[in-house]
Amino acid sequence: MASQQNNETAKSLPEIDWRSLKGPFDIIGDVHGCADELIELLDRLGYAVAVEGEGASKRVATRAPAGRTAFFVGDFVDRGPKNSDAMRIVMEMAARGQARAVIGNHDDKFLRWLKGHDVKLAHGLEKTVAQFGEEPEEFRAAARAYLEGLPSYAWLDEGRLIVAHAGIKAEMIGRNTTAIRHFCLYGDTSGKNDAQGLPERFNWAADYGGETMIVYGHTPVSEPAWQGNSVCIDTGCVFGGQLTALRWPEKEIVSVPAREDYAVLRRGFGLPPRRPANGDS
Ligand code: MN
Repeated sequence: MASQQNNETAKSLPEIDWRSLKGPFDIIGDVHGCADELIELLDRLGYAVAVEGEGASKRVATRAPAGRTAFFVGDFVDRGPKNSDAMRIVMEMAARGQARAVIGNHDDKFLRWLKGHDVKLAHGLEKTVAQFGEEPEEFRAAARAYLEGLPSYAWLDEGRLIVAHAGIKAEMIGRNTTAIRHFCLYGDTSGKNDAQGLPERFNWAADYGGETMIVYGHTPVSEPAWQGNSVCIDTGCVFGGQLTALRWPEKEIVSVPAREDYAVLRRGFGLPPRRPANGDS
């Protein structure tokens, strides 16, 4: 498989080895356009963020607590009420060195739309596209450049911590291929649809026995879900749940409630089943 792996890494994927970054971090779950809840959560974490002005003169003012960095698990956009404001906040914090992020599957699909690819406007992307249609071209170009630079996972704090949108397997850590990128964005899937017509997912973290702490989102759960050295912090804000942060290295949870149910969660809250032992991979 070495030659295949070489072909994959030759695509110059964004760098994942950020072990020299030690934090402390405030790792934030799937935002999905919930900008008001994001501002409230950041406030609880000691940041001060305000969206000021209207239209082309809209600006974000941000301040971060000394020494701390916000870290987003991805899925900034889709389904929620304020997708462009959510992007604007993340991008402004990143530009000021106050935040870092990995890309989520929704951001990746939005990026393909920004690049002019033919993508289906569904699963909340239609809202993001409508809102970005009212933004200046420069802002769309800046969003594209920002998303293009995001890694599929980040290996942090001297190897003690990983942030990956949908998770990662122990044997993938330190490697960077398109297959691994796909796992980090979508998690463990069978490639088939379930009875509801939704992509079949499996609970990769049930089998994770590694030492490295893995913080991820992607799967809406009613409370942060700890399994071994992993925790899912997507508490489904856009579905009327909460927006959650994990403070690292404190391992302290901070959450704010959703102000509304912005979208319907067809799958229901909770982790998917464990992959059957004899299941095809
Ligand atoms: Mn998500």
